[in-house]
Amino acid sequence: MLRLDPHTIVLATGNKKKLAELKRLLKGRGIRILDMDSFQGLPKVKEDKDTFKANARKKAIEISKKIDKLVMADDSGLEVPALGNRPGIYSARYAGISQDDSKNIRKLLKEMKDFKGRQRRARFRCAICLSKGSKVIKMVEGKVEGSITLGEKGIEGFGYDPVFIPEGFNKTFAQLKPATKDRISHRGLALIEVKLAILRYFQRYH
Ligand code: IMP
Repeated sequence: MLRLDPHTIVLATGNKKKLAELKRLLKGRGIRILDMDSFQGLPKVKEDKDTFKANARKKAIEISKKIDKLVMADDSGLEVPALGNRPGIYSARYAGISQDDSKNIRKLLKEMKDFKGRQRRARFRCAICLSKGSKVIKMVEGKVEGSITLGEKGIEGFGYDPVFIPEGFNKTFAQLKPATKDRISHRGLALIEVKLAILRYFQRYH
């Protein structure tokens, strides 16, 4: 098993833009962050569970079996209540396995083209699991409520950001500054508790 210096955590995600956001959210805490590109021979974990939490748990545990460090996994997505909470856990591959953000957005807007008012409500959810040696250290879920626009606006972020307006704002996540998204987003909110858990873990064991 690979051994690393003590204050390192490994982010178990292959999504480069999500990774950039997670790194930004964890910055300035004296935590060294590595991603999966730093390792060879890690298993490709299949996200086949039916909740965000269960998928995050599975990813974190499978990777932490192979790396002797704190491992953090995020499973997240968009829920539209008027679509029975779809795309949900299928958010990344909503329009197919190619995981194409533009195609996913086009599919969503098409399905919602006749939706008005409250029917356009949506939320992002993010489950984050911290694991060490295949044990769960912390599991947190964050969410942000909002609505889906009629068309795409803005260039920041990733995924469904260009069509999601968080409650209390009149701009999409892709129009807002990254720092503003971080302050109110599902991932930013979940990370508040997770960061505390990481720091507590390092204090206790190092
Ligand atoms: P995961 O890598 O399986 O967790 O996929 C998450 C998917 O949900 C992403 O590919 C996006 O489509 C969507 N998603 C999750 N979080 C966000 C976000 O902060 N902004 C936009 N889309 C998101």
